[in-house]
Amino acid sequence: MDHFLYRDGALYAEDVPISEIAAAVGTPFYVYSTATLLRHFKLFDDALEGTDHLVCYAMKAASNQAILKTLAQAGAGMDVVSGGEYLRAKAAGVPGDKIVFSGVGKTADEIRTALTGGIRQFNVESEPEMEVINAVALELGVIAPITVRVNPDVDAKTHAKIATGKSENKFGIPIARASDVYARAGSLPGLEVIGIDVHIGSQLTELEPFELAYTKVAELTERLRAEGHNIRRLDLGGGLGIPYTRSNDAPPLPVEYGALIKKTLGHLGCEIEIEPGRLIAGNAGLMVSKVIYVKSGEDRDFLILDGAMNDLIRPAMYEAHHDIVAVQEPAPGVEQRPYDIVGPVCESGDTFAKQRNMPPLQAGDLIAFRSAGAYGAVMASEYNTRPLIPEVLVNGDQFAVIRERPSFDEIINRDTIPSWL
Ligand SMILES: *Cc1c(COP(=O)(O)O)cnc(C)c1O
Repeated sequence: MDHFLYRDGALYAEDVPISEIAAAVGTPFYVYSTATLLRHFKLFDDALEGTDHLVCYAMKAASNQAILKTLAQAGAGMDVVSGGEYLRAKAAGVPGDKIVFSGVGKTADEIRTALTGGIRQFNVESEPEMEVINAVALELGVIAPITVRVNPDVDAKTHAKIATGKSENKFGIPIARASDVYARAGSLPGLEVIGIDVHIGSQLTELEPFELAYTKVAELTERLRAEGHNIRRLDLGGGLGIPYTRSNDAPPLPVEYGALIKKTLGHLGCEIEIEPGRLIAGNAGLMVSKVIYVKSGEDRDFLILDGAMNDLIRPAMYEAHHDIVAVQEPAPGVEQRPYDIVGPVCESGDTFAKQRNMPPLQAGDLIAFRSAGAYGAVMASEYNTRPLIPEVLVNGDQFAVIRERPSFDEIINRDTIPSWL
């Protein structure tokens, strides 16, 4: 469920007409709904009620500080995957003891930044990284709380580019090596082993892979405890999928996911952390774009938009589907026709949808990409010297620009010319 609905024939974000935002900020832009962000956070928080838990929003999904602050004020922690994300979370006012540091290649500098500013835990991804965290902690005279990310070798049944829990993926350590790795961790004076971490992939649409992984984590918890480790926190990652269309089978709900967690791990008495990103932000955001031209080809018509693959790369990168709707609600019974919906970038990959049925559209009409809140703005680039598009946050009948569109001068002046030219 989201808060982007038609009212009197016009698409709204909560109580603000999309066309009003477009008039104020220009197109294309991203717009997020505060009510949807909070609703999704609360679904997870409620799903784990009765268990000691923290929902750490995976901020790589959408990392604008206004979004972070909205969620942090509701009680969310943050899952970060780089030193930059760590600093951004701190800048948004998130305390260090609510920030979890994930990511396969944390550098000594990033580790130092987090240990200096305060950190809830590092999710260690490899043995060499564990040694570096230990060394940096000793250098700073502190103890680094850690979990080790284990790779449970389960098939997440999702797109290959976002599956992370198979043995061939680069993430975590093989579960079979866990005893050795934990023994080593336990012997390092700069580390305190507090738990286990697992994250098997993104956009999972079934519970079964989670159940397989969490069952392995439960067994591992008992084994590591028997080997003398005080395992008291389980970080279960993110990955619960969202419906990208209204027609297909809906993925499991957070409440069902929460019940699975309690069923597989509840008996262990551990604190539970989860790291949802997509499910919190995905359906809380739209990308709004304008039709520049309607071009008639030999056997098809093209809608050429002012938005492009550099603004929303998911269709080009993951063959992802986004529902695309007209901001002006089509009259009931109006005949739809197929269009190829494309951006102006010089690549055939800059195609958002092929032969998509849409109401008749004209140059100047606004359209909205639904489910664009996660892995949208954060993956944008300035390819073709196209400015990063603005982000807008709506809250009831108010809206605010939370990232401005840069000027061409700002973009161009970022280059520096060597003295020999
Ligand atoms: C990307 C990622 C997440 C979030 O995944 P979603 O599918 O967006 O919920 C959580 N944890 C880790 C370690 C990640 O890399």
